[in-house]
Amino acid sequence: MRLRTLTNRARNLEAILYHISLAEDANGNNLLSGKLESHFHCIEILYACGFKTPVHEMKVCRSIEEVHEFIQLWDTKRHTFTIDTDGMVVKVNSLRQQQQCGSTTHHPRWAIAYKFAAKQAHSKLLKVEFQVGRTGAVTPVAKIEPVPLAGVTISSISLHNEDFILEKDIHINDTVIVERAGEVIPYIVGVVPDLRSGHETPIEFPRNCPSCQAALVKPEEEAVWRCDNADCPAQTEERAIHFVSKDAMDIDGCGRETVVEFIQRGFVKTIEDLYRLPYDEILGLEGWKEKSVNNLKAGIEGSKNRPLWRLLNALGIRHVGVTTSKDISTHIQSIFDLEKMSVEQLTNIEGIGPKVAQSIVVFFSNEGNMHLLQELKRAGVNTINRPEDSLSKNNKLEGKTFLFTGTLQQFTRDRAKQLVEENGGKLLSSVSANLNYLVVGEDAGSKLTKAQKIPSIVVLSEDEFLKMLE
Ligand SMILES: [Zn+2]
Repeated sequence: MRLRTLTNRARNLEAILYHISLAEDANGNNLLSGKLESHFHCIEILYACGFKTPVHEMKVCRSIEEVHEFIQLWDTKRHTFTIDTDGMVVKVNSLRQQQQCGSTTHHPRWAIAYKFAAKQAHSKLLKVEFQVGRTGAVTPVAKIEPVPLAGVTISSISLHNEDFILEKDIHINDTVIVERAGEVIPYIVGVVPDLRSGHETPIEFPRNCPSCQAALVKPEEEAVWRCDNADCPAQTEERAIHFVSKDAMDIDGCGRETVVEFIQRGFVKTIEDLYRLPYDEILGLEGWKEKSVNNLKAGIEGSKNRPLWRLLNALGIRHVGVTTSKDISTHIQSIFDLEKMSVEQLTNIEGIGPKVAQSIVVFFSNEGNMHLLQELKRAGVNTINRPEDSLSKNNKLEGKTFLFTGTLQQFTRDRAKQLVEENGGKLLSSVSANLNYLVVGEDAGSKLTKAQKIPSIVVLSEDEFLKMLE
């Protein structure tokens, strides 16, 4: 049985296995067309091996009626299940018959999905709040009477924009029909006009920003009202939250709540303030201990060493997300190159359209934004395209384990850790038979001696390690 890494502790993932694609005995004989006869049997074997499998959620049925009954049973009890599910799969049990069925270019002919009907509920729309996002977009959010739906209680639902409200004719006090699309995001399907009592009032969309009171603007071709005040507090807050987030600077020990707290206390007024936090003062605050402050400090320090695309994404430029940031960062030497680039030059980069290019030009011609970048650079944040960063986009180290020892010359420990993880590898904390590679810097000590006694461990220099990433 060939199996890939099943758990990834760092990402807190787990896998549930429901299929064996290849099984051979010691002599290379295919067990799937020999000893193993049924799908059910395969799952039982996986279970016996200790893997997570749906043994308690499957059943061999003798007729289509039995299949139907089993599905009905799960439809009624699926909300007690620990994993969100939107359906079941009906499969041919005999492996020989599966082979006879074969498959199309997209899917096997011996398996078919049954989707449960999306669950709906009625609730009352109590009020609408207007939230200002980091690009200034104002989003109406419906606050409804809490209602249980598909295993969670829903009390808050996005209404997207003004057009959505008008189109569905949604009023305050209306009875609304709530659905969980794909069983995840709640959605308002519509209202029930027959249940209106006469106390419904229209939703008034604000014409001024709920945070800074600036007049909202709406370009004709867009559906969204926007606050375009660069100093809007709500936007600053959302921008800072985006800056520290996983897909951006990925600052450990600093999430949404921390950012909000620091803004409220006046520690953070602009993004560059994140790099001059008053740690002594923070240590004295309720809920902060030496360990959490040290974590925060390490997270902030670590973020100075991120690949260029992360900084570009962290800036929160409209229409520029992770993919676009990666596309652009390989075409520039430094973030400051973008200040000089025209829409035409930018659209020459593959994947960059005129809308994105225009947005970048607008961002980099803004003095405040350029000041922010200068300040970030001064604080030590990486602003250049480093050769090893373009390597960090694959799974070349997948399933392999690493440990670094000695004084590293070419990169820091943090950077080494990042390179391993970004390429799908895993870091171990000690030398053992589970270790595949020991990377040694100068003056390596006991770890090297220990590793040399285990034949399966490969000892690498820093250069050899970097070569593995190419
Ligand atoms: Zn505003």
